[in-house]
Amino acid sequence: MSSNLSFAELKMKTDRIVLTRDDITKMEVDAIVNAANSRLLGGGGVDGAIHRAAGPELLEACKGLNGCPTGKAKITKAYNLPAKFVIHAVGPVWRGGDNDEASLLKSCYTTSLNKAMQYNCKTIAFPNISTGIYGFPKHKAAEIAVGAIHDFLKENDFFKTINFVCFDNENYKLYADILISNE
Ligand code: ADP
Repeated sequence: MSSNLSFAELKMKTDRIVLTRDDITKMEVDAIVNAANSRLLGGGGVDGAIHRAAGPELLEACKGLNGCPTGKAKITKAYNLPAKFVIHAVGPVWRGGDNDEASLLKSCYTTSLNKAMQYNCKTIAFPNISTGIYGFPKHKAAEIAVGAIHDFLKENDFFKTINFVCFDNENYKLYADILISNE
């Protein structure tokens, strides 16, 4: 299968995993995951986009969370977003690969899924955590993300759909290739 990455929304279904090229703030799912920083007070990239679209109440809610360690996640309501909840996951900054980056990134995905289950969120959308400002190599990050979700789904029937929402073509293509080769 080849992926035409040029226009419109592109989706590829592999069982319960859906690959989408879109803006995560538009996703009509129970929970979207934010690639947040450990202060949880907003930032650039997808974090900034989520805060802008959710409105100022999101920042107010985040102020009460007292931050979050790297590799973990905290949840708030989603305010003006079409989603019901925002799960704020803190990805690792890439520092060359010998600083636990891989296991911390995997932990973002599994912690977010566990948090979603606690709040009965059966549909969830992930951005490509750590692959922007935090500099994680995109191919490695995509393999970790897909691996984490596959491992989780093997043991778990709770989720209806898990969306990987790619904002850029490079990530979309990487995910498409990995998902196809894993089928
Ligand atoms: P990090 O600090 O974890 O690297 P970034 O927000 O800089 O977080 O980047 C994470 C990923 O989110 C990048 O792949 C970037 O292209 C993507 N991204 C940026 N804006 C959006 C958006 N509105 N929807 C989905 N993904 C986005």
